[in-house]
Amino acid sequence: MPCELSIVIPAFNESGVLPHTLDTLKAIADATGVGYEIIVVDDGSTDDTPDVIDAAHAVTPEIKGIVLSRQFGKEAALYAGLRHTSGKAVITLDADLQHPPSLIPEMLEHWRKGAEIVHGVKQDRQEDSFLQRITASVYNAVFSRLSGFDLRDSSDFKLLDRRVVDVLTKSLPEYGRFYRGLSAWVGYRQVSMPFDVAPRKSGESRWGGLGLIRYALQTVTAFSSLPLMIVPVLGLVMLVIAIILGIETILSKLAGHAISGFATLEITILFTGSLVMIGLGVIGQYLARMFDEIKGRPVCLISRLIGMNSNSGTTH
Ligand code: UDP
Ligand code: MG
Repeated sequence: MPCELSIVIPAFNESGVLPHTLDTLKAIADATGVGYEIIVVDDGSTDDTPDVIDAAHAVTPEIKGIVLSRQFGKEAALYAGLRHTSGKAVITLDADLQHPPSLIPEMLEHWRKGAEIVHGVKQDRQEDSFLQRITASVYNAVFSRLSGFDLRDSSDFKLLDRRVVDVLTKSLPEYGRFYRGLSAWVGYRQVSMPFDVAPRKSGESRWGGLGLIRYALQTVTAFSSLPLMIVPVLGLVMLVIAIILGIETILSKLAGHAISGFATLEITILFTGSLVMIGLGVIGQYLARMFDEIKGRPVCLISRLIGMNSNSGTTH
């Protein structure tokens, strides 16, 4: 049967839940009645996730795998998976069953009706802590203001038409990848499908605080150059303050007052210094992104494939 549906699952240390996830997905994919493949991308797991994929492939040939040479992160894992799909429609979902596979038929329904991208949109974030919800909404507000794309409650649970997968993997070769941003950026016919985030089936979230901050900085700088405007705006503000202070100094000199104020001088120097450093920091972020892109390194390296052939060991 020709492959109509590809399902891509990034997995980092998910051997606890993966067998159950694969069983669930297989049952749902079988029920759709179309040819399918399930591609698990092992993102350099330190547990036996690759063995779980091997074992699953031995029983079910539709289950395939990509083992990356080390942990490259979820974005890279998704990219490697997308590049190896052959289905006419591709669904990406998490290994921990937080993205309910029971919605796959509904996604396919949207696709058959003409949608080229179906975005899973988080409806119920009860799983998230208060702090997580606050930081997520601040981040989303900043991101949408700067980039013009509203990614509120968006997730990596998506269906993409083959055409979109080809665009993402062939025409957008950027190194700093942001799946949710790119799939909104490409356009085409997009629909949203709300879903409730299920509790994580086993293990812990793989994201730590520092990782999330880095991710936030990278995604914002990848989608907007507006923060660079902070530099000239700060400069202009400083110039206005300097002119006002200068006029005031001349006037008081003419009026015969002595110019006093060591404290004023100190504050001015510190103030100017911090503005200059903020400006440099913003420029530095963009320089870092350019450095990453200009090196032209592959997004990730593949150590071995399970159940499929490759034309190269790297994924650019
Ligand atoms: N993941 C990955 N590489 C990583 C971190 C996560 O492949 O470096 C996978 C993970 O195995 C899971 C999905 O990405 O399938 C979502 O990760 P997680 O559940 O930890 O994130 P959260 O649900 O908290 O956003
Ligand atoms: Mg999760």
